[in-house]
Amino acid sequence: MIICECGELLRNKEEIFRDYTKTTASPSTRTIGHRNCGFIFNFVDEKNPKKYSSKKELKILAGKFAEKNLSPEYAPLFMLAVDRLKSKGKLRDYEVLVRAYREVLGLNSENPVRKKA
Ligand SMILES: [Zn+2]
Repeated sequence: MIICECGELLRNKEEIFRDYTKTTASPSTRTIGHRNCGFIFNFVDEKNPKKYSSKKELKILAGKFAEKNLSPEYAPLFMLAVDRLKSKGKLRDYEVLVRAYREVLGLNSENPVRKKA
């Protein structure tokens, strides 16, 4: 999974398009873009998406992410999970967001969110 600069999680091929971009490796390097917002990734130079943001930057990204990918009732729980995972230190941005996302939706078998019946 990839998280775009716009904050959306790219989960399947329908959400991306193939393109070429100028990188330090080649003036036309094969890459992908995000269909919804038109953002084109540059994996060679790794300018984006940023791998390790500061806590503050990550919060902004997490806010955008929650807005686009989660229903509002999950947002506070998601932000808490992001904060906690980020505090552990070693995770990349997308790992923090994806883990928090899976956690609030109860997709992590090792750490499910208990649902009240
Ligand atoms: Zn995007």
